[in-house]
Amino acid sequence: MNKAFFLDRDGIIVKMVYDAESGSPHPPLKPSQMEFVPGIFELLKTAKKLGYLNIIISNQPDIGLGRISKNDFDKISEKIRSSLSDKKLTLDAEYYCFHHPFAKLRKYREKCSCRKPLPGLISQAAKDFAVDLKRSWMLGDGVKDVIAGHKAGCKTILLANLQETEYLRIVEEKLKNIKPDYLVKNLEEAITLILKSG
Ligand SMILES: [Mg+2]
Ligand SMILES: [Zn+2]
Repeated sequence: MNKAFFLDRDGIIVKMVYDAESGSPHPPLKPSQMEFVPGIFELLKTAKKLGYLNIIISNQPDIGLGRISKNDFDKISEKIRSSLSDKKLTLDAEYYCFHHPFAKLRKYREKCSCRKPLPGLISQAAKDFAVDLKRSWMLGDGVKDVIAGHKAGCKTILLANLQETEYLRIVEEKLKNIKPDYLVKNLEEAITLILKSG
């Protein structure tokens, strides 16, 4: 059986883009907006060294919602892969949920079982790669990631990039009885954590 390091994409691998107009952050919508989160190269390297498969687990409803074209999404994915490859890093797999219950494009409008907080993408990846979920991690910056990881049976790490008090309020509200196993403020702390746990 393999072990895996499941990573959310937006906010973990690539930075969220701050939108001055709406005042809220969104995933990159053009390749030129794509920037890596500090520490991600080292994290991927460390996880690999410890024998984990690095696998993206990500909700990407923006194509269906009409905010980005499939073509631009693919270009961003390609830029992520080629930039990682420049650093001699590769992702073992990428799993995306493109669905959204209110998608404008009919083909993506679905109440699916792969959209986090549901664990469908993680379960599928575990099946495809013979992953022992108990020895695996889900790292994300949202409560949806923690719930999906918890439901799938992984250890969970929440990267809290909001102000701490605000963060605690939101987490308590949304997580109810599910708490992340670990809480980190940046990817460096996540690296230390997995090095300790092995
Ligand atoms: Mg995220
Ligand atoms: Zn889905």
